Amino acid sequence: MRKQIAAANWKMNLNLNEANELLKGLIAENVELSSGQEAVFAVPFPYLLLAKDNLKGNKYFFIAAQNCYIKESGAFTGEVSAPMLASCGIEYVIIGHSERREYFNENNFTLSQKIDVCLKNKLKPIFCCGESLAIREGGTQNDYVETQLKESLLHLDATEIKGFVIAYEPIWAIGTGKTATAGQAQEMHAHIRHILTEKYGNDIAQSISILYGGSVKAANAKEIFGKPDVDGGLVGGASLNASEFAEIMRSLKK
Ligand code: PEP
Repeated sequence: MRKQIAAANWKMNLNLNEANELLKGLIAENVELSSGQEAVFAVPFPYLLLAKDNLKGNKYFFIAAQNCYIKESGAFTGEVSAPMLASCGIEYVIIGHSERREYFNENNFTLSQKIDVCLKNKLKPIFCCGESLAIREGGTQNDYVETQLKESLLHLDATEIKGFVIAYEPIWAIGTGKTATAGQAQEMHAHIRHILTEKYGNDIAQSISILYGGSVKAANAKEIFGKPDVDGGLVGGASLNASEFAEIMRSLKK
């Protein structure tokens, strides 16, 4: 059975005190995950070690960076490399969030390089894909997401992609309060798994966790996560509230 994951994306929010408070709040919630379930906390770079230290008591909690650079070291002022993150004991990196694509011009090719540098450094990418509202309204979302996968991900071989994590995040549902219906999420997740099955076969495709992202909250998590091809969620706004995110973690399939 593939992993069920609740991933928190704090984005560029919270000062140090607030980050500390949220971490304490999360611990106080005492969420008990079981084998096959994970919670991942993608916190801003300055709080990575703080989060790691605070959450180390829970073996199903992991820390993620929200981005990394394509090069491993050198004169790239302001960037953070995969080897740096690995040396800090960070486990996951979000790659290709739609905000990175939109505001920092990250394209499918750059993202394929980021995936490669993560894997080289034993970091697990959470690869984000998803269409804009215009594409959804034009009805070409399946082709669009397929191209994102082909150009960034499908160069990997079966051993590299086994157990991988993909997040389907329709841009029109991110931070808008407008969630895709559980049916729309399932439809796209099934499409993604079909693409993976065609390329790598059923065993590998079944090992890949596909998370849904876009206005997930405690009130809708259970219904969305309950769909057969939805293996949890990538959560922005609602992850900034400890009790809300705790409820989302509790909504993961067993
Ligand atoms: C996200 O940041 O990836 C996200 C899905 O945000 P939100 O949950 O706020 O829509």
